[in-house]
Amino acid sequence: MGEINLSNLTKRFGDVVAVNDLDLEIEDGEFLVLVGPSGCGKSTTLRCVAGLETPSSGQIRFDETDVTYRVPQNRDVAMVFQDYALYPHMTVRENMKFGLEEEPDYTDEEREERVESVADLLDIPDLLDRKPGELSGGQQQRVALGRAIVRDPSVFLMDEPLSNLDAKLRATMRMELQHLQEDLGVTTVYVTHDQTEAMTMSDRMAVMNDGELQQVGEPLDLYHAPANLFVAEFLGEPNMNHLNGTVDDGRFVADSFTYPFDDSVLDDVEDADDVVLGVRPESVEILDDDPEAVSLGDREFEMTVDVVEPMGNEHVVHLDFAADASESLTAIADGMRRIEEGESVIVHLPHDAAHVFDARTGVALH
Ligand code: ATP
Repeated sequence: MGEINLSNLTKRFGDVVAVNDLDLEIEDGEFLVLVGPSGCGKSTTLRCVAGLETPSSGQIRFDETDVTYRVPQNRDVAMVFQDYALYPHMTVRENMKFGLEEEPDYTDEEREERVESVADLLDIPDLLDRKPGELSGGQQQRVALGRAIVRDPSVFLMDEPLSNLDAKLRATMRMELQHLQEDLGVTTVYVTHDQTEAMTMSDRMAVMNDGELQQVGEPLDLYHAPANLFVAEFLGEPNMNHLNGTVDDGRFVADSFTYPFDDSVLDDVEDADDVVLGVRPESVEILDDDPEAVSLGDREFEMTVDVVEPMGNEHVVHLDFAADASESLTAIADGMRRIEEGESVIVHLPHDAAHVFDARTGVALH
């Protein structure tokens, strides 16, 4: 068993609709990340899958079996929480063994062997006789994972398991967890609000907002072809630029500039009126040319450098349209390059840089 199917899943808490009519299929062996801002309903969804919440309506199936109202103990899932939920008075060994307490098929000796083999897998055999209070955050995290793994469940459910770790350890654990999941091949549903975790770890990610599923798919597909403005802005750091305007005579027209659309874009936007032009910062090119010395192409604009944020290998550059400082763009430029605040530069928006959204609904047109 490893396939999970959520259909029309809804969970209300009084007037709050935490999860609204969610349809989602998670494949056997897949690493699916549920991601979205705080309060979007991702933990509630996970808790419904775990059996810790009862849905208000809808159905949860594991393979073909309806488990919507089954108690957690009868779901063959193991959950890893943000706070690890280890028992402080028990040693690591006892904590991990505790995961097997309800497994009548194991003898005590087999339990012991299982704990030791998982401890080896996680590189924590030296910690088995310590108590959680004697461990670092990263080590506690491994023990919490270990306690889930010893049970050999059909599904892992993880709720922000790395969020209490510092940035460096989080990056290491991200990779380790991903490799571990690949090796074990166990269907995993992982909740986070961190888009980097979602992008780097998942086979597929499901982006939620306000209790509703916005889009599900492979990380790069969502990044390059977001279904709507919410997904476009949620993914990517710095955020995608967005500029309001209209479609007129084959061009995008804003207050301070116009941008000719490619034919491929025009096919998708010709019936549109008010639109949002979205451009990823890495698509905004700052040219070397002197604005005084060259004439501008039709996808080139003179802009003023407002703020430069040096990040080491790159600069994040905030630019204002020279004609009207109310419209601006964020670009990413090579960290070796000298760019001065207040300087005038030519900015090129390539023909394939444009994402276009319906301004009223936020739905992607192209
Ligand atoms: P976070 O990242 O902050 O944990 P989340 O995306 O996991 O957020 P949920 O915890 O699923 O969001 O909460 C979704 C909505 O349901 C929120 O508005 C929350 O306040 C509400 N909610 C969650 N649990 C309960 C509860 N037990 N009682 C009442 N409201 C709840």
